[in-house]
Amino acid sequence: MTKVDLRSDTVTHPSPEMREAIANAEIGDDVFNDDPSVNKLEEIAAAKIGKEASVFVASGTMGNLISVLSHCGRGDEIILGDKAHIFRSEAGGAAALGGVSYHTVRNDARGMLDPSEVEEAIRDSTNDHNPHTAVIAIENTQNNCGGRVLTPQDTKLIADVAHNHELPLHVDGARIFNAAVKLETPVDEMLKEADTVSFCLSKGLSCPVGSIVAGTHEFVEEARRWRKMVGGGMRQAGFLAAAGIVALDQMVDRLAEDHANAKKLAEGLSKIEGVTIDPDSVDTNLVFFEVKHPNKNELMKKLESEGIKGASPYSRWRFVTHYGVDSEDIDYVLEVMANAMAS
Ligand SMILES: *Cc1c(COP(=O)(O)O)cnc(C)c1O
Repeated sequence: MTKVDLRSDTVTHPSPEMREAIANAEIGDDVFNDDPSVNKLEEIAAAKIGKEASVFVASGTMGNLISVLSHCGRGDEIILGDKAHIFRSEAGGAAALGGVSYHTVRNDARGMLDPSEVEEAIRDSTNDHNPHTAVIAIENTQNNCGGRVLTPQDTKLIADVAHNHELPLHVDGARIFNAAVKLETPVDEMLKEADTVSFCLSKGLSCPVGSIVAGTHEFVEEARRWRKMVGGGMRQAGFLAAAGIVALDQMVDRLAEDHANAKKLAEGLSKIEGVTIDPDSVDTNLVFFEVKHPNKNELMKKLESEGIKGASPYSRWRFVTHYGVDSEDIDYVLEVMANAMAS
């Protein structure tokens, strides 16, 4: 029996209020634009993040894909971090489906890009040798850099570079609400400089399925066409959108609990012999650490036999706190981990 599943915040189940909203959702056919719950979610989401319009999509991956496809034509280029989810973890979708190439610049330890490197990466489109740069993207929170948070000032630094070159800035904000809660800054303030945004309802906000893509009316109309083309027109999606409406109303502020639990987990892990982690580097709900153990698989199996699941991407370990994991669960994980490392 799994007692504590720390693999990801995507394992979250809907709250009782969400289940009730799902059961009672008013629905229609969203491809005809007449699902009232989807329409309401799209309105609420756009208003909340300070954009003109938004569209409900199946996943964060689809949200980023249709955003990039809306910004770029075949042969165009996206500039983004070398640790970006869009680059590393979305199966090369923009390249495969859109003929878009990825031009990476370095992410620093806290997930930020160097504005001058971004500027240098922008192509001179008057030279026929060059692909056209069509969009610049940042990620907030930056997953692979440890769920680190970029400030509105950070975002502005990159946005200024983009806008000086008449390029749009896309924010992969899968966990933008974690960033906003961490900085105690309204999410629309966090995204003020972003032209387009995608964020997940299905991670810390605990919805069963779904993401939002937002921007200008014109951009969202284009994104809707791409959503249809990649098979994301979901008909009676109001059942899913109903959970999203509850999430935006009720599940944002509680992310602070996940952050507190992550900090407690990081501090506890730092005291265990053989575990390397800097608790100060834990900004939000993602806890990455290194483990010195002769057999990592065996250690993972041992944890699983005690009902604890974690993930081990990219040679490091990752534990993610989320709705459904409480402070006592963290005590339990730390106890099992300490015993497993000592034996
Ligand atoms: C999870 C994630 C995505 C993709 O979301 P899915 O819903 O899993 O497709 C995109 N970007 C970032 C930064 C993520 O963490």
